[in-house]
Amino acid sequence: MKVLVTGGAGYIGSVVTERLLAEGHETTVLDDLSEGHRDAIPAAASFVEVDLRDRAALRGALAGRSFEAVMHLAASCLVGESMENPGKYFENNLSAGVNLLEETMPLGVDRIVFSSTAATYGDPETIPITEDFPTEPTNSYGASKLLFESVLAWYSRLKGLKWIALRYFNAAGAASEERGEDHDPETHLIPLVLKAAAEGGEVQIFGDDYPTPDGTCVRDYIHIRDLADAHLDAMRAMERGIEGPFNLGNGAGFSVREVIQVSEAVTGKSIRSRVAPRRPGDPPSLVASSKRAREILGWNPQRGDLKGIIESAWQWHLARPDGYRSAAT
Ligand code: UDP
Repeated sequence: MKVLVTGGAGYIGSVVTERLLAEGHETTVLDDLSEGHRDAIPAAASFVEVDLRDRAALRGALAGRSFEAVMHLAASCLVGESMENPGKYFENNLSAGVNLLEETMPLGVDRIVFSSTAATYGDPETIPITEDFPTEPTNSYGASKLLFESVLAWYSRLKGLKWIALRYFNAAGAASEERGEDHDPETHLIPLVLKAAAEGGEVQIFGDDYPTPDGTCVRDYIHIRDLADAHLDAMRAMERGIEGPFNLGNGAGFSVREVIQVSEAVTGKSIRSRVAPRRPGDPPSLVASSKRAREILGWNPQRGDLKGIIESAWQWHLARPDGYRSAAT
């Protein structure tokens, strides 16, 4: 299939691209490289560099091309930032998405896999979370993703677009020593904990007075390869008429303190930490039920163990301590 991957230079998009190519799909990456890395894009993919917010530039960049499916991962995705700069989130995650639909459907696209998030649920009353839970985001990041899900439902109803939204829980780990997590600035827990392990720095724990077993936030960490595989499952499922949102997680929650403890075991180093104020917009606990993805998409995650996830991230960190700026080994 001819597939366009937006955000294909990013952490998750580059691994999705790798998996698509491995299954023989003709794959084009679209990215503005504002946060992604040119070196993360697999060599066999075509590359279009353009900002999705600029509709005229988008039309020009895609002129003469055709695609059957889109995997839409390009986004801003930081909870804390979204509480300070909501405009950035609604522009990048909502308006840019509408541009993408308007400019790619005339090129032949009739299906889209959308990178959504657990942040669409807000602060659920119980866990694990199923797809029929209320969606009441506590941050503008989650709100922007949820709004775009309803845009997709309208395009399905009015234009026949097939859509699946994958509500990621916490993407983590590295696909290989070639592709892993590299954000600038890095704000995610696992890479920051591993950097502290390697360099002797201190990890901030954002709040220890949440209603969770040890008072720190609980998240469901999922290996990047398992996450990437779900995109291919979703693309196939749309051929069977399946649509809608699907959770992707392991169904096991780990607190910030537990992530630090497992990282100490993996790295063999002691990691200093300090309790800091809560981060605005953070729900206490997000743990998925992915029963629907397993049963309906046929998703079969293989790498659910947190220790293995952190080991893969540690191998990536050792191979490339400065991410893509480090020379390949
Ligand atoms: N977190 C933390 N210290 C950090 C970074 C993150 O305590 O330096 C916490 C954060 O508040 C959240 C969890 O770790 O409860 C996971 O955060 P991350 O940013 O990795 O992912 P998110 O859940 O926001 O998608």
